[in-house]
Amino acid sequence: MSTATIPAPVKSDIKIKYTKLLIDGEWVDAVGGRTFEAINPATGDVIAHVAEGDEPDVDKAVKAARKAFESGPWQKMSASERGRLMFKLADLIEKHKEELAALETLDNGKPIRDSLNADLPLTIACYRYYAGWADKMHGKTIPINGPFFCYTKHEPIGVCGQIIPWNFPLLMQAWKWGPALAMGNTVILKPAEQTPLTALYVGQLALDAGFPPGVINIIPGMGPTAGGAIAKHMDVDKVAFTGSTEVGKLIMEAAAKSNLKRVSLELGGKSPNIVFADADADAAIQGAYFALFFNQGQCCCAGSRLYVEESIKDQFVEKLTGIAKSRRVGDPFDMKTHQGPQVSREQFDRVMNYIDIGNKQGAKLVTGGSRVGDRGFFIEPTVFDGVRDDMTIAQEEIFGPVMCVMPFKDIDDVVQRANNSIYGLAAAVWTKDITKAHAIANRVRAGTVWVNCYDVFDAAAPFGGFKQSGIGRELGEYALEHYTEVKTVTVKL
Ligand code: ADP
Repeated sequence: MSTATIPAPVKSDIKIKYTKLLIDGEWVDAVGGRTFEAINPATGDVIAHVAEGDEPDVDKAVKAARKAFESGPWQKMSASERGRLMFKLADLIEKHKEELAALETLDNGKPIRDSLNADLPLTIACYRYYAGWADKMHGKTIPINGPFFCYTKHEPIGVCGQIIPWNFPLLMQAWKWGPALAMGNTVILKPAEQTPLTALYVGQLALDAGFPPGVINIIPGMGPTAGGAIAKHMDVDKVAFTGSTEVGKLIMEAAAKSNLKRVSLELGGKSPNIVFADADADAAIQGAYFALFFNQGQCCCAGSRLYVEESIKDQFVEKLTGIAKSRRVGDPFDMKTHQGPQVSREQFDRVMNYIDIGNKQGAKLVTGGSRVGDRGFFIEPTVFDGVRDDMTIAQEEIFGPVMCVMPFKDIDDVVQRANNSIYGLAAAVWTKDITKAHAIANRVRAGTVWVNCYDVFDAAAPFGGFKQSGIGRELGEYALEHYTEVKTVTVKL
């Protein structure tokens, strides 16, 4: 990650202004009066009490979103006016970017240099990208047989429920709101219970930008209650979800059993990162490290199965270990910190359990493997060598700073092994040989393939999974399809 654009450090003593539910343009308490604790993962301390939405709150939000969709200013607004509101929201986020970055770091634990240089710029760019699309998505005229004039219209789907995870809270909100709002839908967002704070802040900015009441609603709360209520609600027209494959299946089941609402899912991964012996060694080592350890290893597309051609595997592992040992793990508000805490106690325990399983199943721990400090949820950058494809740590999504290195023989060997996974979210290949690069790009079953790079994201480039990594694509023009219904109109001439 470049450090060239890092502004002055941001203070960690920021004020938490928004902790209620946002329904119909108003900040309100939960109907049941409940709250839950927001925790600073760097210390384990409680930083706020946030209103905890449940079924009755979701129901209120759905009614508001339905009303806003069917009548009132949003429904009458032209597509370009919708775009203008979205540009305004992007401008407001940019104006408050240092405060938002600090809040994101406080709530999620990610290093402030990443919040400032990755999360915020990508979030702002995403809103601007989709603001531009608002008046550019349109139908066709179709030359059907007979004396008819036939055309299609692209209409919004209606009330969209959006359930997002905790690893990139601001960015996931932008990926969801961008295409939904550009196409004229109304939304009910449920942020993850671990990281509700920035979503709420952006909710206020959306009100300030002038989004009419009911167009955007935010219900913080727990997954099975608030999230479940969205997934099964009879008057929600579409649900978009990012999170685990396990919960993705529950969402789809709830959608099927209720009103057959549209479903798009961005789920887990166990992405193969393939390094050939002829790769630019330095770029591949830095790239492989970044591919896994960025964001504390908490990326659905993390390059968590590192396949290295056998002739260079040992020296590769040695260099990776060197980087791991040199990384600064600690206070996420320190501009020099590379790696912050895991997001929660639960995630910390989960990752430590995987490290334990790796050790027990006979993988070779070459560095890391322990907790850092005695406060917060910090884990050493951990590298396992001698991993076999059938080990649990090579098959399941760890979602933490744990690298699994495996040697491979040739293209056929690595392609077959790379594809031997229930997931298909992303993959990467490092080589100077264009033939090998294209062979991997063609043969690996994944929604994204990076060649000599990793985690290159742009609002214009679609992202999503093959197999059990999801349904549909986010970002780019492709995401718009998931927020529109196509209407065919035929007129007798
Ligand atoms: P993780 O295990 O990484 O927390 P999850 O898939 O459990 O990932 O969570 C992602 C999002 O899905 C969060 O907003 C969470 O609250 C929500 N969620 C969890 N369980 C359910 C559920 N049964 N129904 C709807 N949403 C859920």
